[in-house]
Amino acid sequence: MNKSGFDAYLVGGCVRDLLLGCEPKDFDVATNASPEQVKQVFRNSRLIGRRFRLAHVYFGREIIEVATFRGTENENNSRDRVHEDGRLLRDNIYGTIEEDVWRRDFTVNALYYNIQDFSVVDYVGGMTDHQAGILQLIGDPETRYREDPVRMLRAVRFAVKLGFKLHPDSEQPIHTMADLLANIPPARLHDEVLKLFLSGHAVQTFEMLRHFGLFSVLFPATDLSLQTEDHGFPRLFLAKALENTDIRISEGKSVMPYFLLAAFLWDPVQANAKEKIQQGKHEAIAYQEAAREEIKRQIKHTSFPKRAGLAMNEVWTLQARFKRRTGTRALKLLTHPRFRAAYDFLLLRAETGGADPTLAAWWTKFQDTNPAEQEQMMKGTGQQKNKSHRRKSRYQKKTGSTNNPGPIRQQ
Ligand code: ATP
Ligand code: MG
Repeated sequence: MNKSGFDAYLVGGCVRDLLLGCEPKDFDVATNASPEQVKQVFRNSRLIGRRFRLAHVYFGREIIEVATFRGTENENNSRDRVHEDGRLLRDNIYGTIEEDVWRRDFTVNALYYNIQDFSVVDYVGGMTDHQAGILQLIGDPETRYREDPVRMLRAVRFAVKLGFKLHPDSEQPIHTMADLLANIPPARLHDEVLKLFLSGHAVQTFEMLRHFGLFSVLFPATDLSLQTEDHGFPRLFLAKALENTDIRISEGKSVMPYFLLAAFLWDPVQANAKEKIQQGKHEAIAYQEAAREEIKRQIKHTSFPKRAGLAMNEVWTLQARFKRRTGTRALKLLTHPRFRAAYDFLLLRAETGGADPTLAAWWTKFQDTNPAEQEQMMKGTGQQKNKSHRRKSRYQKKTGSTNNPGPIRQQ
């Protein structure tokens, strides 16, 4: 870029992380070249975005995002730029680096690293804040949160990830402004939720989100269940689910987002199902309906893909099937594609007082042992067979409801 006569800077998270000695997730470049000019310089690039065009430059498997400096409004272009609630609607005017800096969120995210002479350009005191470990919004915090309420989630995410302290001026308004998040499209909030909880610091993130009243906007039903039984099962269960997520990430293991979402919504689903059972509905039907309703309710806040909803539903539905181990049922369950996740879920429940630990232990042994012993174990459960079990199994055969959770409509 520089050779072609343009200025180019590494900017944002990558500079911040490099200064901390961490490996950046991705690299962003800001330049005074227009996207079309970037495309001319890099043949290995593609222009993306309709509203604000960016160039993606490909280096092997790495993608570097190259954005042209963005400007701020003036008398000619300020019209319609801000929604009546203060949210920014348009952010698509080219500008200079001096203008570009003001649209960034935190001072430590607004450091520009000049690739040519290895200097850091800092207009907002980002270096001082970085050294002091302070996370602070650029400009007036209330205005900046109103422009884009997602910045409140970013504040939590970066404070936790970097181990920085949120500056009191940036911290204080969150308590009263948290509700503004409700205006953000659910798809964008889902993306943020994944970044928040798959960061490797889910436990701390959760605590901080609750502290600021942000969690209740993202997961209202979950928050309600925590309020009613704050020290009981839901809280213990969630704490363990979050802790396990962090452990898995620190061990480099994969984490399925739907698993955590299933944990978040488990208590609301159970509470809903219990009500239906009290009204005389059969357990399996009650759980099916409750699962659908809670998913439908949640995706109005943070929407997730339909397949995630299906997976969550399966994990919930299989919980009841763990209890029924007679005949060949247990062996069949082992081959279910969602067995592993559902079994992990059962363990989580058993560890936190939500399921019988001996049942969890039975399944731990059963899946690991030889066929002869499996046979013995299944016989052992057969002796406990009683009338109510038989009634349930006949019912299942008729409806097939526990074997096939059926499609979930998300809208
Ligand atoms: P990470 O990639 O580690 O999550 P990041 O700081 O790189 O952190 P990105 O979402 O990749 O975050 O954004 C890159 C940069 O764009 C940020 O550092 C910030 O300067 C700017 N930015 C991103 N989102 C916003 C926002 N909502 N408001 C203002 N500036 C933003
Ligand atoms: Mg980034």
